[in-house]
Amino acid sequence: MRALIIGIGQCGTKIADLFALVDFEAIAINTSKSDLEYLKHIPQERRILIGESLTGGKGVNANPVLGREAMKRDLSLVMRKMNSVIGYEDVDIFFLTFGFGGGTGAGGTPVLAEALKEEYPDSLVVAIGALPLKEEGIRPTINAAITIDKLSKFADSIIAIDNNKLKETGMDISGAYEKINYTIVERIASLLALIDVPGEQTLDASDLKFVLKAFGSFATVGYAKAEANKVKNLSRLILKSFENEGLYLDANIESALYGLVAIHGPPELLKANEIFEALDYLAQKIKGKQIFRGFYPDPREREVEVVTLLSGIYESKSIEDIILTAKRYAQSFIKAKEEAEVRKRELLSGLPDFDDLYP
Ligand code: GDP
Repeated sequence: MRALIIGIGQCGTKIADLFALVDFEAIAINTSKSDLEYLKHIPQERRILIGESLTGGKGVNANPVLGREAMKRDLSLVMRKMNSVIGYEDVDIFFLTFGFGGGTGAGGTPVLAEALKEEYPDSLVVAIGALPLKEEGIRPTINAAITIDKLSKFADSIIAIDNNKLKETGMDISGAYEKINYTIVERIASLLALIDVPGEQTLDASDLKFVLKAFGSFATVGYAKAEANKVKNLSRLILKSFENEGLYLDANIESALYGLVAIHGPPELLKANEIFEALDYLAQKIKGKQIFRGFYPDPREREVEVVTLLSGIYESKSIEDIILTAKRYAQSFIKAKEEAEVRKRELLSGLPDFDDLYP
């Protein structure tokens, strides 16, 4: 299976750079020249500066209107570079990584998602975005809400990571960002590493694409790992992988349509009864009742690893909070703006022109 990671904006390119570190094909796109230079693992020729004529390479200062314009102006350059990286072999899934609350990522990602869908209709476009912290204020929340709406029209799935979940760890902000970025990469990389591996009950690219082709709804990736000698009951570890704390998104997993569970570990631990107990429970719990499964017994392995993907989710408190806050704010702002216009007109009406007073 071929996955191409495309990072957009500062948050997105940092995450894409980590994917490059673990040998994924990755591209970085940004309006800020210095942020692009700061990356460590993506080769120079795969770093694309956009909107230079608009911002002089200085970034868009969290303004998504500029981010969108920058991507639109340089879309043909981006698609040309993309084509040269892709070559003749198809890409199964484009993963677009970005921060929902900023400018380049929030404004530019939906534009790129639409263009990729048009140019590569057989490939999937999956957005992986970090939701803003509540403390960041109203603008990142609005940016996130509008970007969610736009992306839902073009992306096949949106994997949203709620940065607020990290506050619970009590870490400082840059440490927390680093942790969440590593977590995203670890989970997606572990999942992709198990696709198309030969074996009996395994998952292939078409299974993963089936699960992620979910009309722009939300998806979330859970993960659990334990040393083999500490696993008393595998069913518990599987359940832990899709419990809330593992998923970095407040979501009602019962609203999911599809699930995919991949289990990798020493053969003597992958006991059928324990696996099926957990998978039956999960299949009953989610609305769509469909679980794709892959078992990867590996005699060299000393750990058991479970990766869970749930897709087609439409009930999420993290997302609802953002959308409702943005809607409330937009309504009151538009009302205040209209009032200001009326007051201005009332105040200024009845004033004469210069000619009325000066002969
Ligand atoms: P852009 O460069 O204009 O797209 O803006 P950013 O990428 O800096 O996006 C800002 C948003 O992303 C804010 O809401 C931040 O909370 C979030 N963010 C910024 N950097 C990171 C990061 O490294 N990891 C995570 N998880 N979120 C980040």
